Order: sequence, then C-alpha cells, then structure tokens
Amino acid sequence: MLNGQVALITGAAHPAGIGFAIARTLLAAGAAVTIVDLGQEACDAAARSLTAALSEKGTRHEPPLAMAADVRDRAALESVVAKTVERFGGLDVLVSNAGIAQPRKIMDISDEDWSATLDINLRGMLNLTQAALPHLADSGRIVAIASIAAQRGGGLLGGPHYAASKGGVLSLAKSMAREFGPRGIRVNCVNPGVIITGMNATAFDDATRQRLLDQIPLGRFGTPQDVADVCLFLASAQSGYLTGTAIDINGGMHIH
Ligand code: NAD
Repeated sequence: MLNGQVALITGAAHPAGIGFAIARTLLAAGAAVTIVDLGQEACDAAARSLTAALSEKGTRHEPPLAMAADVRDRAALESVVAKTVERFGGLDVLVSNAGIAQPRKIMDISDEDWSATLDINLRGMLNLTQAALPHLADSGRIVAIASIAAQRGGGLLGGPHYAASKGGVLSLAKSMAREFGPRGIRVNCVNPGVIITGMNATAFDDATRQRLLDQIPLGRFGTPQDVADVCLFLASAQSGYLTGTAIDINGGMHIH
C-alpha cells in the first residue's frame, strides 16, 4: 500500500507503544520510515528491533532512520525532516503520535503539567507540521493521534488538560485539512479508546479494568496494532477522499 512512500512517525521508540506498531505496519506496507522519539539510544534500539521483526517475516524494507528529537523543539524536527529527505528522497506521510498523559483533577493541574501536556500533545503536532510542510509531497498525508478523552471529557487515564490537548489536536487537524486541501494534502485523526501500551499497562486495578471492559461492546481493550491498521488506511491512497475526519478506534466504548 505504501511502496516508494516515505513516512515520519513521532513517539515511535517504545516497543509496546502505538507509534512503534505504526512504524512496523508502515514499513511492512513498503514505506521508508523515520522514527523519532526522546533519546538516541531508544530510537536506535527500536530501529534494530523493527528490522529484526520484519526480517524474521521475510519482509523486504529499507532500514529505518532513527533520530532523537523532542517534539517541543521545532528546530530539532527540522533537522529530522532534512535528514529524512536526504536519506529517502522525499516525505509523504507524517504521523503525529508522541504524547503524554497525566491523571489529574482540575485543581491539581500545575502550570508545569499544563505546559508539558499542551506543548507535547498539541504544539508538537504544530511543530512537526511546520517543520515538514515545505518538504511534504503535494499528495501528502498527515495523521494525528487524538483520543477518546477529547470526545468524552477524559476520565480514563489522562486528566482534563490531556483531554483539552487532544481536543486541540482534533481542531487543529480540521483547520490544516482546509488549508492544505488545495495542495492535495489530507489531514485526518484517530481517536483511540483504551489501548494497552506502556502508557497504561499498569494503570488500572482489577476492579477498574472490569468496569472499563463492561463499557466496551467488543469486550476487549484495543491493541497498538488496532490503531496502526487504521493509520495505514489513512496514510494510503485507499482513504483518498477523506480529509478533516477522525476515526474512532474504541471497540464501541463511545458510540455517538
Ligand atoms: P507510549 O507512552 O507508549 O508512547 C508515547 C511515546 O511518545 C513514547 O515513546 C514517548 O517516549 C514519546 N514522547 C513523549 N514525549 C515526547 C516528546 N516530548 N518528544 C518526542 N517523543 C515523546 O504511549 P501510547 O499509548 O503508545 O501513546 C501514543 C499516542 O496515543 C499518544 O499521543 C497518546 O496520547 C495516544 N493515545 C493513547 C491511548 C491509549 O490507551 N494508550 C488512547 C488514546 C490516545
């Protein structure tokens, strides 16, 4: 689905995370991939493990480019984009995935909490887009990971500031879809429900786990692969007439 395409994914180094699954899935679909995360060592390890996983399956792929960058730092992202274009000859797909979630109630949100959450989850998407846009192909696709928290007012793991940051992602994506549409660049989001990753693997006690499962018609939590498969669709020509949308990936937990 993505032969000859180049994709850049933020927050992709954690082997149990959504970004890593997206990187693996886009690589397997034929894309050349740049993975970005905090810490060069983690990025290198992720690239090695992606290569090992795909080689084991006999999937031919370009070795991923692994680069450390904080999504709060636009200049660092500009370097990542420049290196990506130099290595792979272009840039077609951006996946804005890096994010943090903090459980808080309104009165407990400190200035530092607010800034970190908004700067990573929302400004990070703006930074990535501003860094990449001059190089993004005219048929480019931007996929942003929002959240069910934006739709239902948090209440799962992330606090109100997390929900607000993801609501901002949904709004920013709609504006980008309008602005970039004439260039053929499509911008879409996904709203994952409860996906078991490093972010929440140990966050729920047994009672909470069961209470959440009882709210999910499909009767299970999501996997990173559930999210990656939808991101592949949004990154591919198969979603060619979709822009400014958001796809829910929640097993029916929030039907609206
Ligand atoms: P995760 O913690 O495994 O992955 C997040 C990644 O982002 C990590 O690798 C982390 O190092 C990286 N990161 C954090 N701050 C960064 C920064 N400043 N610069 C660059 N990278 C940074 O969690 P995950 O569950 O895989 O989350 C991926 C995305 O999915 C996040 O945006 C999260 O909000 C969203 N999401 C997750 C769930 C869920 O249930 N897991 C639900 C809805 C949305």
